[in-house]
Amino acid sequence: KDMKTALSIKGLVVRYGAVEALKGIDIEVKEGEIVALLGANGAGKTSTLRTISGLVEPAEGSIMLYDEEIAGKEAEKVAGLGIAQSPEGRAVFRDFTVEENLKIGAFTLKDKQQIQKNFERVYKYFPVLEERKNQVASTLSGGEQQMLAIARALMSSPKVLLLDEPSLGLAPLIVQDIMNIVKEIRQEGTTIIIVEQNAAQTLKIADYAYLLELGQINTHGESEVLRNDPKLIEAYLGSH
Ligand code: ATP
Repeated sequence: KDMKTALSIKGLVVRYGAVEALKGIDIEVKEGEIVALLGANGAGKTSTLRTISGLVEPAEGSIMLYDEEIAGKEAEKVAGLGIAQSPEGRAVFRDFTVEENLKIGAFTLKDKQQIQKNFERVYKYFPVLEERKNQVASTLSGGEQQMLAIARALMSSPKVLLLDEPSLGLAPLIVQDIMNIVKEIRQEGTTIIIVEQNAAQTLKIADYAYLLELGQINTHGESEVLRNDPKLIEAYLGSH
């Protein structure tokens, strides 16, 4: 396999005052892959995503999106360069309709035809959102709001899609649905970084995974290999 690197993180350090949330991590994401960031609460997964998308400024390190250094760039600039984040906690615009939320997701695009194509694409992945396009987001179920958050991120035609805990608080069947759709999104060419506490299920769809522990990469490898590593199963995967 001779795949291009879509995102390359080197020596990334993030500090919040005296707290060092990331202690110099290296992550490489190949174009068209799903890469999982796994780890316990407070390991630094969300900090990693927020630093990539420009919401948190790194203290040290480099983040290359293809040939472009994006570390420390403003969130709006990073979004324009092709990174979209679906945030934890389904931060959709609650008083806006589904359609309005999706339109906001396309704010970096000018081409009306492209926006129309993206609407068609996300409605294909999430037919329930098309059925509910005129409904305000606050009236959607938890699973539907999560779908809307992912769909909204996809509306900008991102090169790299960042998903923060898409399975959080959802029933197992809905989690399965969402994981299947994430796989489909990858199959159509979008590179994906997914942060999850649900390690077992995420390793089934990811190509490669990094295990974060207290701001450092503890282990990394192909999902297939990690899934079958008895020590990892015991330490991180529980009895799923
Ligand atoms: P979770 O799944 O709970 O979001 P996480 O792996 O995503 O966990 P982070 O949210 O990145 O971890 O947090 C990493 C560390 O940084 C934690 O110790 C957390 O308390 C700390 N932290 C995160 N955000 C801030 C902040 N804005 N100010 C101070 N400390 C923070």
